Amino acid sequence: MDRRDFIKNSLLFTTGAVLLSGCTFTNKEVSTGLKPGSGITTAKFKGLDVSMLGYGCMRMPMKSNGEIDEELNKKMVERAMQAGVNYYDTAYMYMGGMSEEITGRAVKPYDRASFNLTTKMPVMMLEKEEDVERIFNEQLKRCQTEYFDFYLVHCLNKRNWDNTKKYNVIPFLEKMKKEGKIKHLGFSHHDTPELLQEIIDYYGKWEFVQLQINRLDWKTTRGEEQYNIARKAKLPIVVMEPLRGSLLANLNAEATKILKDYNPDASVASWAFRWLAGLEGILTMLSGMSAPEHLEDNIKTFTNLAPLSEEEQKVYDKAIAAHLKQSAIGCTACRYCECPVGVNIAGLFSLYNQYMYDDRANKNMSFINHYEALKESERADKCIKCGLCKPKCPQQFDIPELLVKVHKAYLEAKGA
Ligand code: SF4
Ligand code: SF4
Repeated sequence: MDRRDFIKNSLLFTTGAVLLSGCTFTNKEVSTGLKPGSGITTAKFKGLDVSMLGYGCMRMPMKSNGEIDEELNKKMVERAMQAGVNYYDTAYMYMGGMSEEITGRAVKPYDRASFNLTTKMPVMMLEKEEDVERIFNEQLKRCQTEYFDFYLVHCLNKRNWDNTKKYNVIPFLEKMKKEGKIKHLGFSHHDTPELLQEIIDYYGKWEFVQLQINRLDWKTTRGEEQYNIARKAKLPIVVMEPLRGSLLANLNAEATKILKDYNPDASVASWAFRWLAGLEGILTMLSGMSAPEHLEDNIKTFTNLAPLSEEEQKVYDKAIAAHLKQSAIGCTACRYCECPVGVNIAGLFSLYNQYMYDDRANKNMSFINHYEALKESERADKCIKCGLCKPKCPQQFDIPELLVKVHKAYLEAKGA
């Protein structure tokens, strides 16, 4: 089973697990990143060599019973450490709140100075100012660490930015910096370029920014504008969702054929990372690796990471154009949109995307089977349109509307 098939098969059925520094650096320091010699390519950041492959702890290996496979996770972290991956990115809410603890245990055996540990303040969960300190202390404990190398205000959109100001999050985090409990402070952004500019202008001491940048979002969700704003502010960029969930590792058959005809040995995912490597100012790219083969493929890509050549760029553009001809839902499967009545939003969107990209004769039957394998309560037509999920979606999807589309596709596939 190759990576594409693995992702196809695993996305749907890993319950609860589906799914990702003002500063004195010079652009050159971050933009070249290309450390001579072998090993994982690094970017310079304030005297640090940060691996351009960031280990995203929002997707972990799972057992067939739906539990996190902690032993396998530890082995994967060991392999990553050996290969030179030194940026580990977790968050309070990842993996149903388990990621920080599991990541903390996985990195514990290693020299603390040899890797960068990153987590984030879940401002969307704050109800009072005291929550900020309580959560921060809890995070130190969960991660079994005295400090975080990189710390972010998590998932800033309009509502979360309002919470950040309302609960005085930035002054508290500044205090933690002074106490040495945070080395570098940044934020992750999930809103418009206008809000990104506002956040940058509000606080002049951000050291890095985490943005969703990838070839699919470059034009369609104003990724290029956000990138340019960060560059103008001289903020190094941590890339989240470099594969857009798994979509860029899972292009449709026509697009995959274009890439494989050009280079049969290169994984589809590697093209996405190498496209990003052509951008200036990237500090690291977060990849949520839920299986050893993902990690091995990434180690191969990021060892002497090479940007796409001009010719490869044209091939990739052609493949992306072929992919975009078919409509799909760009859900990253982050699962922030928890549904109170149990609709399996991310699973349904993944199923729909697979259906759209499937070119097999039996695609209808496969879609119907997978759809009907879901519990009744998880299906798209069980949405009661309460709208609670909509403000939680970083991609700002009209989830109830998209669910109608998914259910309509199911009915059409059945010939109803
Ligand atoms: S709108 Fe539908 S999918 Fe969203 S939370 Fe409500 S019931 Fe769930
Ligand atoms: S619909 Fe939005 S919030 Fe829900 S999993 Fe997809 S991207 Fe995440």
